[in-house]
Amino acid sequence: MADVVLIYPYVHREATGRKLWLFPPLGQGFIAAHLRALGHSVRFLDCTFRGIDWAIAEAAAEQPLVVGVYCMVTMHEDALAIVRGLRSSLGDRALLVAGGPMPSGKPQTFLPAFDAVMRGEGELVWEALVACLKDRRPYKQLEGICTLDPTGALTGNTKAPLIPKEVLTRLPMPARDLFDHERYQAYWRSTFGYTQTPVFTARGCPYGCEYCDQPIFGATYREHTVEQVMEDIENALAAGYSHIWFSDDIFMLNWQRALKICDEIHRRGLKFKWDCLGRVDVQRKVFARMAAAGCERIFFGIESGSPRVLRQMGKRFSPQDVRQAIQDANSVGIRAAAFFQIGYPGERTEDILATLQFIPTLPLDYLSFTITYPLPGTKLFDRVVSEGRLSPEEQAEWKRAGHNVLTYKADHSQLKLRSAIYAARARFLAEKHLGWLGKTLGPAITHSASLAIARMA
Ligand code: SF4
Repeated sequence: MADVVLIYPYVHREATGRKLWLFPPLGQGFIAAHLRALGHSVRFLDCTFRGIDWAIAEAAAEQPLVVGVYCMVTMHEDALAIVRGLRSSLGDRALLVAGGPMPSGKPQTFLPAFDAVMRGEGELVWEALVACLKDRRPYKQLEGICTLDPTGALTGNTKAPLIPKEVLTRLPMPARDLFDHERYQAYWRSTFGYTQTPVFTARGCPYGCEYCDQPIFGATYREHTVEQVMEDIENALAAGYSHIWFSDDIFMLNWQRALKICDEIHRRGLKFKWDCLGRVDVQRKVFARMAAAGCERIFFGIESGSPRVLRQMGKRFSPQDVRQAIQDANSVGIRAAAFFQIGYPGERTEDILATLQFIPTLPLDYLSFTITYPLPGTKLFDRVVSEGRLSPEEQAEWKRAGHNVLTYKADHSQLKLRSAIYAARARFLAEKHLGWLGKTLGPAITHSASLAIARMA
């Protein structure tokens, strides 16, 4: 019997896929650790390898006070299937709560299927909610809790206030003992030949790019202490991982602190490899110390080779900054990985071609290139709705977001955008894996694709 059951509804269905970032959810790990520190019992059910039927049965068997289901946009259908299963097995005996990025951005989608939606940062709202439920006090007035009133209108539709920094730095780090290390490590070992798990050192990003989904932390930045971070790294390594993924939006945003973490890794004699997310215009001076501390690869959100599109996105860097950052990383032995997107609202054919020409000029180790999809809760989503490119109620295609389908009325056809993606990937893979032959074929791939794309609608 657990007071609280937390469910992560992601199901790994791509049996043969090489999915990077197949990780347990740190956010729920933080919530579980906080609730346990307060004396509540918590069961965590991760559907990744075991599916949703298993989670529903296990949750029902716990007879909990409350079940929290996390949800990102791609998990929407599974989250709703879980709540239907929970409702039929638990009835009204447990409060069913949705939380995470999508419920925070679009709470009405989860009501009335769930009893309540939790909006914003979770730990302190969970603390207050569980206290109310245990004391049989009303909970609907809590900040961050959103419900429907008897007329079906949303009530309490405000996000939880952000956790103050002085509180954040006292919170326990994620309850890693709840994670299914055996299955995650087996997946990583068989897919990539090593094992990797995430560590959060800071929350949020102050930049506010138009397309970026920041429903939980907003455009803010708060750090865990170096001591907290080191404790969590040591816990992750003790669980048997060889690699760490620093999942901060930008690991070296505060470069002095990034250096402290690198130095502390050295001082403690910790031997592991790690990857992180970076921004091309943020503190390249730390690359050498990062490399010395085990950094192997930095993932940059480059997004476009067109200065015009970069400005539209709210990026404050240029293609020249991109080139310089990647050179700087490579010069100290750090590989560069890149995210690009195409089909941004307002992007012209010449912008697409500029991106297509730009990508092969970068010495990349990894390339992600996808069609833009405006996520609910982002400024981009509001813009495409206001420009009549998407009905605010439209959601049928969300589950396919990330599969290179157009989820809104773009300026170009899906075929054209996909052609650009396939051409960029084909050249990238040819040059990476086919040696001189790839280098010979590469320019022809880009040239012929550009000619075709220029003629497409
Ligand atoms: S895209 Fe990256 S830099 Fe921009 S707001 Fe999001 S996390 Fe920050």
